[in-house]
Amino acid sequence: MLVDLLNSRTLVLNKAWQPVNTINVKEAIGKIYSGSAKALGTDYVAYDFETWVLTWSDLSMVSKLDGHKFIACQKFQILAPEVIILNDYKGSHRREARFSRRNIFIRDKYTCQYCHRKFAPKELNIDHVIPRSRGGKTTWDNVALSCIKCNTVKGARTPAEAGMKLLKTPVKPRWSALQCQVGSKIPESWKSFVDTLYWNASLSEES
Ligand SMILES: [Zn+2]
Repeated sequence: MLVDLLNSRTLVLNKAWQPVNTINVKEAIGKIYSGSAKALGTDYVAYDFETWVLTWSDLSMVSKLDGHKFIACQKFQILAPEVIILNDYKGSHRREARFSRRNIFIRDKYTCQYCHRKFAPKELNIDHVIPRSRGGKTTWDNVALSCIKCNTVKGARTPAEAGMKLLKTPVKPRWSALQCQVGSKIPESWKSFVDTLYWNASLSEES
């Protein structure tokens, strides 16, 4: 049971509160203990190790935190931090989102980027926005999911030539959330960081 808990994931934010990656709880506690990170409470306050233990291990507090996990140590218990913030940018090396078919599907949410409808994976193609025959590359910013019908209509044309508009400009996702199953079992406390940052990332790169 304890082993399971120590393997559950903690979201790591950099100093600017942007998601960097996820690590297991044991590593997360190690970082807080060593002072290289702070734990983020459900009150959005960053706590150092000592304060975290004192504040969030109070039993009266614990009863209010239904569903949160605790790690029992010999003399005290520690609330397993779901989110930590690194104290230093140097420690925040960013994992690259792997350029894969699966990750393109996740990025585009199984939605045709031209007609904006959701489809089953087998009904979707990976479209080259600028066609390959016109020098378009197979890169994050030149691929978009397209249903078979839209793909046929577009043919070997650019969206502008075909009079079609992309739902959003394709970009390389900034975070490797893709690799840790977005949407399936994200703790509530991660959502405000993961959802907004991940989806706003494409908007801020459009300019
Ligand atoms: Zn379509």
